[in-house]
Amino acid sequence: MTIDLRSDTVTRPTAAMREAMARAEVGDDVFGDDPTVLRLQQRVAEMLGFEAALYVPSGTQSNLVALMTHCGRGDEYLVGQQAHCYRWEAGGAAVLGSIQPQPLPQQADGSIALADIAANIKPDDAHFARSRLLCLENTWGGRVLPQTYVQEATALARSKGLACHLDGARLFNAAVASGRSAAELAQPFDSVSVCFSKGLGAPVGSALCGSREFIQRAHRWRKMAGGGLRQAGIIAAGALHALEHHVDRLAEDHANARRLAEGLQGLPGVQVTPPQTNIVFVDLPAERAAGLVERLAERGVLCTGLYTLRFVTHLNVTADDIDRALPVLRELLSA
Ligand SMILES: *Cc1c(COP(=O)(O)O)cnc(C)c1O
Repeated sequence: MTIDLRSDTVTRPTAAMREAMARAEVGDDVFGDDPTVLRLQQRVAEMLGFEAALYVPSGTQSNLVALMTHCGRGDEYLVGQQAHCYRWEAGGAAVLGSIQPQPLPQQADGSIALADIAANIKPDDAHFARSRLLCLENTWGGRVLPQTYVQEATALARSKGLACHLDGARLFNAAVASGRSAAELAQPFDSVSVCFSKGLGAPVGSALCGSREFIQRAHRWRKMAGGGLRQAGIIAAGALHALEHHVDRLAEDHANARRLAEGLQGLPGVQVTPPQTNIVFVDLPAERAAGLVERLAERGVLCTGLYTLRFVTHLNVTADDIDRALPVLRELLSA
């Protein structure tokens, strides 16, 4: 018995999803005639309230293509110090896009203080890179960004002539947890990236959404990045199936995360952050944390982390799995 709580990327396609993939009508998407890819792009654009969308192989490529579409050589983007599209994408925007990041500290809820945004938008002066873009992330560390903050931050950026991009890898988790539609959460942004391969449980892909004109320009960068795929309808069918069947059920993942967090209450020295969505963080004293991930794995419970352990619930984790993981966790986290 292994309960894999390392990430919501470990999900396997369901039987129904595989069937949809097997039945998918395909064409050559580089020629623009894969009907399933076209349907997926239309559907996700509609759900997020944009004119157009582009199916890309990964969230990393989606963010890279967005950055390269918004920014040119010598431009800069303002971004959280811990944000995925700054810290976790191998420096792609700088290396491949000649785009300078301006990383800024984040508050506990993932937001970047408005004063920090304002103070770091550069005047038009030959000494500075041109400030072109503000990037936010929702959810961030499993937290839903406060929507009033999103409104204020994007309005501030826009008042200084910047565009706004949202890394919404887990935007549907944010939508389900907040009771707002994905379109409402996406509305303040010029472009939004969403992942199909995380909580939605599809095997491959993300989508970048924006205006028709933006997506047209993004198309060229996707090709350059090597993201032009041929009979991509086979994998796009998995993503389309996920959009139709796996959005509302994210509430189950959130309930399972709460079940896990509640089950870990009361262990001496162990601090559990109450989850808003599908990610549970658990802080431990250093001496107890050493080698813990390995010991948990030997007992069939997989997670990641060092002093802060991270547990992610998803499509392939049931409430029963949580109940089976809890005694193991309670035993080893106390030892
Ligand atoms: C996973 C993730 C990505 C990147 O997605 P990949 O498909 O793994 O490249 C981008 N942003 C956030 C917030 C993510 O969690």
